[in-house]
Amino acid sequence: MELPPKPDESDCCNSGCNPCILDVYEEQLRKYKNKTLNTKESTKKNCMSLTTYATFELIKRVEHTADTCLLTFQYVDKENIYCNSCEQLHLIYKPGQHFLLKGHSYYYKDNQFTRAYTPIPVENNDLLSFTIIVRLYEDGNMSRFIKKLELNTLTLWRGPYGDFEISYKFNYILLIAQGTGIAPIFAVIHDILRNEECETFLKLFFCCRTERDILLRNELYEFSSFWNFSYEVFLSNECNVKCKYNEVIHSNRLDVNAIKTYVEDKLNKNVQILVCGSEIFNQDMLEKVLSCDVDRERIFLF
Ligand SMILES: Cc1cc2nc3c(=O)[nH]c(=O)nc-3n(C[C@H](O)[C@H](O)[C@H](O)COP(=O)(O)OP(=O)(O)OC[C@H]3O[C@@H](n4cnc5c(N)ncnc54)[C@H](O)[C@@H]3O)c2cc1C
Repeated sequence: MELPPKPDESDCCNSGCNPCILDVYEEQLRKYKNKTLNTKESTKKNCMSLTTYATFELIKRVEHTADTCLLTFQYVDKENIYCNSCEQLHLIYKPGQHFLLKGHSYYYKDNQFTRAYTPIPVENNDLLSFTIIVRLYEDGNMSRFIKKLELNTLTLWRGPYGDFEISYKFNYILLIAQGTGIAPIFAVIHDILRNEECETFLKLFFCCRTERDILLRNELYEFSSFWNFSYEVFLSNECNVKCKYNEVIHSNRLDVNAIKTYVEDKLNKNVQILVCGSEIFNQDMLEKVLSCDVDRERIFLF
């Protein structure tokens, strides 16, 4: 562990970010001081920091659905030079962790704020770049900032945050996602499927409004060629849906019966449940899963 770089007082935008950059610095400094001198740690250096902002250039923008897009950012060093040859530098984070992007109002530049976004695995990304899937809201502060971001603009990021760790001790993992909550879930699925030694069965229940809102549908469909992954989509706002071959799409909300049917014969077989959606969605799913006799410690809410 390295001595964390000290953030500038002005890096705190006083808008109640969670976590606040100054609090993270205090916490990291405390951990650093507590660390014994002879701890063996990886010598890899992360180009992203918990306590200072790193600069990433927007290098790619792909429209995904009517209101979501995929954005790819590439690390540039302090002199704004691409760092492809910085061998000691890596972008280090765990699947399911998120980064914070700093944005500002275009009218009042002092009005700054941060929002969390979760990197998703994408083929052919450079080692020092990452891709996020973003839903843009009409009246969202960061949504407005991102809508106006042009290619090659420099942006400020810090992270990674989030304490989820993939556990390989479970025989079954049920993943429940809503909307862009698919981002961390997708990263976790990708990581487990790429691990040839992992024999965990994965089942995804993906809750979307309409067929057009099924994010990363082609990618999920490709994942379903793995022997240990399958998914079902639940649409709250659409009835007539065209399914791909072997795709299961329900024209109703995810209800407790679907969860019960899945966990019923697995409770003694080590099942874990991961949930990611809005706060209301997570609470609703938590209640549903608990009512299926699943222990609270087997449920993780992102
Ligand atoms: C840990 C974490 C990871 C996240 N990862 C991602 C990600 O990978 N991709 C992604 O797109 N988002 C992600 N989010 C959500 C993201 O951080 C922002 O909250 C979102 O982009 C909206 O920000 P905003 O500033 O545009 O809207 P805000 O200014 O915060 O909100 C203004 C208005 O926007 C609308 N709005 C905002 N959020 C929602 C919502 N969830 N549902 C419905 N309406 C809403 C509402 O009308 C709201 O009144 C994540 C959030 C967390 C906490």
